[in-house]
Amino acid sequence: MRIILVEDNEAIILGLEYLLSQEGYEVNTARTISQAEALLRQKDCALVLLDIGLPDGDGFRLCSKIREAYRLPVIFLTAREEERDVVRGLDLGAEDYVIKPFRNRELVSRIKAVLRRNGKGDSLLRCGDIVINTETGKVNRGGTEITLTRLEYKILSSMMSYPGKLFTRDEILADIWDISGNFVNDNTLSVTMKRLREKLEDSDAQIIRTVRGMGYRMETNQ
Ligand code: CA
Repeated sequence: MRIILVEDNEAIILGLEYLLSQEGYEVNTARTISQAEALLRQKDCALVLLDIGLPDGDGFRLCSKIREAYRLPVIFLTAREEERDVVRGLDLGAEDYVIKPFRNRELVSRIKAVLRRNGKGDSLLRCGDIVINTETGKVNRGGTEITLTRLEYKILSSMMSYPGKLFTRDEILADIWDISGNFVNDNTLSVTMKRLREKLEDSDAQIIRTVRGMGYRMETNQ
């Protein structure tokens, strides 16, 4: 799924290109409105991330055009002092906005929410040859379906939502607290992780890496 990033700040561009590619999106960057217009004509995309202050104009004008001509969802990337303007900008049909500096996880969840609302929800989570369909709850590895318990599924889908991120044992325990119905202790977590790995045949491939004394991480370079 492609995202067009319209932004003229090189540091933000670098950060977002890295972040979004880690999340499995293709990113094309435009540094000016005219570059953005050219990109929009050339490439199909699912969403536009749009800065407001651009070298050859403001993002509001481009937003109207994107909504009218391409009917694409837009998320504004905005500076704090532009927040008041951007609220008005939402009347132009933008779906959402984030204020710089934003937290990566927040931006990613906003993007996913906007894509879902627009029927472009990325219901597939992938890591290596493991694929989770979050709509059907089915898990496949290399095309073979794997049956997981609710607990195993919850842990795997959380970790696959953020490949490469270190999940501490405490974070995982907090995450599964809601669905487990009763207290999951550290030992239960170890056993659950072991079973999950056996089901994924993880022993040799090490898709779920143990970070000693810290927690677990899904490897992205499988
Ligand atoms: Ca700017």
